[in-house]
Amino acid sequence: MPRSHSLWQQTTTALTTSPLRNHARADVCVVGAGIAGLTTGYQLAREGRSVIVIDAVAVGGGQTALTTAHLSNEIDDRYEEILRLHGPDGARLACSSHRAAIDRIETICRLEHLSCSFEQVDGYLVLGRGAKERDLDRELEAARAAGVEVDKLPTAPVQGFSSGPCLRFRNQAQFHPMKYLEGLATALQRHGGQIYTGTRAVSVEGGQPAVVRTADDLIVQAGAAVIATNSPFNDIVAIHTKQAPYHTYAIGLRVPAGAISHALYWDTEDPYHYVRLQRTTARELGGDTDERVDILIVGGEDHKTGQAQDADERFERLTQWARERFPAARDVEFRWSGQVMETVDGLGYIGRNPLDAGNVYVATGDSGMGMTHGTIAGILLTDLIQGRANPWTDLYDPSRVRTGAAMEWVKENLNVALQYASWLTPGEVSSIDQIASNTGAVIVENGRKIAVFRDERGGIHKRSAVCPHLGCIVAWNPAASTWDCPCHGSRFDRFGAVVNGPSPKDLEKVT
Ligand SMILES: Cc1cc2nc3c(=O)[nH]c(=O)nc-3n(C[C@H](O)[C@H](O)[C@H](O)COP(=O)(O)OP(=O)(O)OC[C@H]3O[C@@H](n4cnc5c(N)ncnc54)[C@H](O)[C@@H]3O)c2cc1C
Repeated sequence: MPRSHSLWQQTTTALTTSPLRNHARADVCVVGAGIAGLTTGYQLAREGRSVIVIDAVAVGGGQTALTTAHLSNEIDDRYEEILRLHGPDGARLACSSHRAAIDRIETICRLEHLSCSFEQVDGYLVLGRGAKERDLDRELEAARAAGVEVDKLPTAPVQGFSSGPCLRFRNQAQFHPMKYLEGLATALQRHGGQIYTGTRAVSVEGGQPAVVRTADDLIVQAGAAVIATNSPFNDIVAIHTKQAPYHTYAIGLRVPAGAISHALYWDTEDPYHYVRLQRTTARELGGDTDERVDILIVGGEDHKTGQAQDADERFERLTQWARERFPAARDVEFRWSGQVMETVDGLGYIGRNPLDAGNVYVATGDSGMGMTHGTIAGILLTDLIQGRANPWTDLYDPSRVRTGAAMEWVKENLNVALQYASWLTPGEVSSIDQIASNTGAVIVENGRKIAVFRDERGGIHKRSAVCPHLGCIVAWNPAASTWDCPCHGSRFDRFGAVVNGPSPKDLEKVT
């Protein structure tokens, strides 16, 4: 079974264009062609601005290809927490902005004739192990106060799942995220925007103009720069001490068509489980008929990035959990994993980049709600760049500090500080011979920590294990075959090339 290969990657082909070949100029340069970057680029291009989007890999080359694409205005940190941290007005704005994001996705699908299985469904929050019904009651009250359309039921009126007491959220939605991105990219180009894939940005300087420099030493000059790389590579500290990287796992199980109702399902555990269905066809999955196939997608088992290496056990636990709750579940056809950035106060950072010139913007910290946060980014950043007031500006301001989040800030930064102790620990294995084919491990060589990957032919690839961002020691991630930094979530492919910021550079070569 392929590792980290999502249902979406199986049923679409990665959209690539030519790389940037010359210096360029535009009203706005967007870095990152995930949902946040493409939505922003699309919105601006629709308003007649000239837009250049660059991406190091491909359209959907990051976490948007690995999402489970629940579209919800029930915040995954729960409204009880959002009310405590952001107050009643903040909670109402959080609710209305995520609602607006779902509606905007639907509108874009209609306007641009996108075929991406957009579907309105209800969402159900059910009790996890050890939870009490009063947990649901408190969330019901908080969500209602924020303006969410929610009610409590003794059991969910769905097929194939016996929920027990639950909250029902009306008019949530789901879609095929990669088909949506493909359509959005085409629409952006139709509105005059340009997309260059295989083009990595290595620095961004604000000012008149803002200058985005690429790894090929080309520059894009622009009136504004938007960094939508999921984790900003242009910010060393300001944002990264306020958000923490988590790794999360998903599986796709075949179920008999129609046996389980299409809906969004979550439980109250921490980390929580998240579930939905996707309808596809045997042909899309590589077969030769158009027979309907339903895939049950189940996610969870999150942990701090780079701080666990038991992926197989986590996938197994997810499988067991799915089989117990959804008896119709059959074979596991997909398993994959990815990273989410959790902010200390439960909402994304979208707006002007702290400590930077006024025309550099970021979108990050979207947690398990990146589809709506990414769409909010598209709406909010377009307003800011176009000089329009937007009621969500303060709520998502990347410079904000919420006093109620202080304990979470201390906890996450203490965890980061503890990671530096791994400079002093022995390697994960004592000799290269102990590293199996297609696997990596950190060893100590001449007093230095080295990240060693053994390829399928036995070839050995060595890089320094020190993350170029702030010097933590990376760890092998067996689920995605990447080197992951446990401090701020920089990730590198098995050969050491950076795939996710904040590190702007690859792992150093070892001489
Ligand atoms: C398993 C899983 C389940 C999830 N489930 C949900 C869910 O149900 N609902 C939900 O709303 N969210 C969910 N999320 C979160 C959501 O997928 C992400 O938050 C969202 O996709 C992030 O989108 P983005 O555009 O910010 O970043 P990405 O999609 O990561 O896009 C960033 C892009 O930037 C590019 N890039 C990076 N660095 C550079 C550089 N230096 N130069 C140029 N390009 C660069 C990358 O190649 C990438 O294409 C889930 C995430 C995971 C992993």
